[in-house]
Amino acid sequence: MIYIGCHLSVTRGYEAMGRTMLEFGGNTFAWFTRNPRGGKTRDVDPEDAAALNALLRREGFGPMVAHGSYTMNLCAANPVTRANGTDMLARDLERMALFPGSLYNFHPGAHTGQGVERGIAQIAEALNGAMGPEPRTTVLLETMAGKGSEVGGCFEELREILDRAAHPERLGVCFDTCHTWDAGYDIAEDLDGVLTRFDKVVGLDRLRAVHFNDSKNARGSRKDRHEKLGQGCIGMEALRRVAMHPALQGLPFILETPNDDAGYRREIHTVLDWMESRG
Ligand code: FE
Ligand code: FE
Ligand code: ZN
Repeated sequence: MIYIGCHLSVTRGYEAMGRTMLEFGGNTFAWFTRNPRGGKTRDVDPEDAAALNALLRREGFGPMVAHGSYTMNLCAANPVTRANGTDMLARDLERMALFPGSLYNFHPGAHTGQGVERGIAQIAEALNGAMGPEPRTTVLLETMAGKGSEVGGCFEELREILDRAAHPERLGVCFDTCHTWDAGYDIAEDLDGVLTRFDKVVGLDRLRAVHFNDSKNARGSRKDRHEKLGQGCIGMEALRRVAMHPALQGLPFILETPNDDAGYRREIHTVLDWMESRG
């Protein structure tokens, strides 16, 4: 089985997200650690965090997957932007210590004209600066569509970041199905081939979470526009094969599809039905 859930808003607090996901029928979820575009944040109430942790244990949830801000760019050409990004990462990881066992996912960055090699070096440097011996949260690099100057649009670039990390044992990868497809990997017709390639380059043991999205665009478009499950270019059958793939069992799958609450409930139940039909 996989764990399934969706992205939730943190505005009503942490335990409230757990309760919402219980109502939706899921058993994992994601949230933005700060305003995704503005970068602002609120302190976490430790009692609220403890209440959520208790709920997760009691209900048998899989790991949650917090998402870093889109404004955090660890390889921006502008050194002030870059320093802000490193600072955001360090403070996000401090706060994640309140959620033991949860994962923290972020977009590696956009090199904004500096070149991919320089971008990779700066991302690794920022990670090494922000990830001290504590806290122990596992940090995930997201597979990207490769739009603009995004780093992480192929598995090799993620490998290079991992190779330069001071704490590789606490680094993993989050596989976004829309991004990977948009980057050109054929997860519809050759899922085994893509995962074999991932295993060779990155290692399947590094794969810790999946962002489960259809794509509005054709394979290789490098666009990064998510679509509802089954309504995009990847298609329902292919997505079902992803959720059922033996190499991906046990992972949290997070829906980031353009949906309202009712739509997320439907998609969660679609995935639960797949799990059940397998018996
Ligand atoms: Fe993302
Ligand atoms: Fe994603
Ligand atoms: Zn995306």
